[in-house]
Amino acid sequence: MKNKVLAVDDSKLTCQIIKDTLEGEKDIELTVAFNGLEGLKKLKEDRYDLIITGIVMPVIDGFEMIKEIKSHKEWSDIPVIILTSKREKEKTVEGLSLGAHDYLTKSFDKKELLARIKTQLEIRNLQVKLLKTNQELRDANLELHSLAVTDGLTRLFNHRFFHERLEEELSRAKRYRYTVSLIMIDIDNFKDYNDSYGHLEGDKVLKMVANVFNELKRQSDVCARYGGEEFGLILPETDLEGAKMMAERIRERVEKLKLKVEDVRAKLTISAGVASIDFKKIGKIDTEHNYKDSLIMSADKALYQSKANGKNNVSIYP
Ligand code: GH3
Ligand code: MG
Ligand code: MG
Repeated sequence: MKNKVLAVDDSKLTCQIIKDTLEGEKDIELTVAFNGLEGLKKLKEDRYDLIITGIVMPVIDGFEMIKEIKSHKEWSDIPVIILTSKREKEKTVEGLSLGAHDYLTKSFDKKELLARIKTQLEIRNLQVKLLKTNQELRDANLELHSLAVTDGLTRLFNHRFFHERLEEELSRAKRYRYTVSLIMIDIDNFKDYNDSYGHLEGDKVLKMVANVFNELKRQSDVCARYGGEEFGLILPETDLEGAKMMAERIRERVEKLKLKVEDVRAKLTISAGVASIDFKKIGKIDTEHNYKDSLIMSADKALYQSKANGKNNVSIYP
């Protein structure tokens, strides 16, 4: 990719000298503007890797233009070389303090100008490469974190993340005194399903059930694969009644899934257990008590009740 240089100066002679300087440089493309306003217009239209600008110009001078460039996030990293006259020492200082990277005093030597342009472009290219590498590193870290908390088959959160999030939700709920509900779900007779249709069909079903959760869940709900064919759904700021309704909706939707294996209609149902902790109703919070374990145990008891009641149903505990 060519390096794009934008030269801004009202002196045609200066612009011509810059043009001549870059004449034989095949990997540098030069664009010229005759004042700051025109320079800013060019910046909006294209990507530039370096700006060379005079200071005293009509309409918008070099200082105003640099200030504008520095205030735009997408332009602020573009290196700027200022061109000043020998008598304008204080202008050079001001330009540098506004964020210019280098300066040349008129009338400058072409070789020196070329050397400075190349140095700034080299720095710029290294900077761009560094930013790109940093972004790739950030993306890789995000990907790594996502892999570490995701169940590979269902793409739901995994067992470890379920426990972490439940702990977090409960501490938040304690602090702000709200309710957290938990739904534990277990697929009914899944061993038979695998035995009848094979494990690959069983895997497909696990993914379909996960999709049902994702379709019905609220944004703040956390759905995890607890293990095997068991799932845990954390519902922050949801009371027992609301959580029961959600579990019932899931149960109905799974029952209605159209499952076909080799043209045979297959049937699938789930059982669910629902429990809640309402920190508004707890007078004094016991800092020693493990609310997470007792919530999971309560939901498990409710799930056991659903199985004992003949499966394909939802129970609450207590
Ligand atoms: P119940 O109604 O009492 O829950 O009976 P069940 O057959 O569902 O329960 P059980 O605990 O006896 O069997 C669970 C089955 O889930 C056994 C195992 O093969 C299956 N299973 C667990 N993980 C996976 C998986 O990742 N893929 C598939 N295909 N099957 C799985
Ligand atoms: Mg089970
Ligand atoms: Mg089961």
